[in-house]
Amino acid sequence: MSTTLQLPKYSLGTGDRFAHQAKAQLAACVKALDAGLAISPVWNKSNREHTIIGSEPASTRRAADAAVKELGWKLPYFLDADHIGLATVDRFLAVSDFYTIDVADFIGKPAPAAEIDAFVTAQNGLVGSLKLKGIAEDFVITETDMRETATKFLFAVKTAGEVYRKIASVKGEGNFIPEVSMDETDRAQSPVELLIILAAVAAEGIPIQTIAPKFSGRFNKGVDYVGDVAQFEREFLLDVAAIGYAVHHFGLPANLKLSVHSGSDKFSIYPAIHSALKKFDAGVHLKTAGTTWLEELIGLAEAGGAGFALAKEIYAEAFAHREELCGPYATVIDIDPATLPAPETVAGWTSEQYTSALRHVQSDPAYNPSLRQLLHVGFKVAAKMGSRYLNLLEANEAVIAKNVTGNLYERHILPVFFGVSSEAQLAAHASAKAGAR
Ligand SMILES: [Zn+2]
Repeated sequence: MSTTLQLPKYSLGTGDRFAHQAKAQLAACVKALDAGLAISPVWNKSNREHTIIGSEPASTRRAADAAVKELGWKLPYFLDADHIGLATVDRFLAVSDFYTIDVADFIGKPAPAAEIDAFVTAQNGLVGSLKLKGIAEDFVITETDMRETATKFLFAVKTAGEVYRKIASVKGEGNFIPEVSMDETDRAQSPVELLIILAAVAAEGIPIQTIAPKFSGRFNKGVDYVGDVAQFEREFLLDVAAIGYAVHHFGLPANLKLSVHSGSDKFSIYPAIHSALKKFDAGVHLKTAGTTWLEELIGLAEAGGAGFALAKEIYAEAFAHREELCGPYATVIDIDPATLPAPETVAGWTSEQYTSALRHVQSDPAYNPSLRQLLHVGFKVAAKMGSRYLNLLEANEAVIAKNVTGNLYERHILPVFFGVSSEAQLAAHASAKAGAR
């Protein structure tokens, strides 16, 4: 019997670098449930992250299971083997039930000409003018679009098929959630490309439940979206509509939805995402990761004493090693070195100065996005500290948990899933509804 594991309509990817915040993260989903929405947590951690931290996927499983037990969470939750490929999937096979199959490295490598020809011929019916449900204007795919997209993406999709089949051979079909990700590449995919990619994914027989395209604009680590919000909104609507078409016409799973990678802290596009979800009654997977590690630092700084001293030391180390820390992330951060305070300056800061520079509150004049991005990529520094860091996380659990939960719930869940910007606004909506009854 095949049990088909289903990713629910709303899901929140959470990254827990040091495997100490699962409960605080889950508490944000509990708050959402209390307020009326079921949002499934998905704990994501990539092979690269495990390697930097020196952890094993089993530790993520233990932390997630313990949190679920402790908070009595009865709804689905998942463990995402994040950005894996053929070479890196093995260590996740025992514990993960969600696989982000990353094929960005294969984009632009053409499949054999005969395979491209066969695909173009088989998909000929898509060429012309399509009607996407919920979209007024025609959605036009030219023969050139078809051939160019096949040339650019078909090999990547076939590679995803290989990875999918490898996972399925171990776990069994239907026992895991497959996602295909194409976000870690240089150029955004257009909605036309997305639709053709989905046709290729269906033809390859991968029952994906989420897909992570690269959207236009910059999705820098831990800071707001940089780009044309109106253009993002148009593309996002078309992407959601294209997915609806693909579900209907290509036989992909009915719960297929977009996955927004590097989705934390993109406050300026959350209203656009929320209104697209409303308009199409669609789901989304919002993926966050490093935003939680920054809340650990904020909590340590708030705690004062040894915790705050360590938070300052982490900044000093990150500052000293900024070039090697930033190198691997060059395409996803924008740090202005001139605005980074000297470690000697930070050493003299109060807790409040540290937390207001770091906390993602754009209206606060002390907020410093360069410092925030440097610390975002600076988790390696804390990883090297080992138990010194972990012991302080444990000693200051309550103040850290308050920040972790609050950040996910107030700054992410409320605007994306509820469409409000604060708890006060949520309460006002609820009482307006009650009054109307
Ligand atoms: Zn990604």
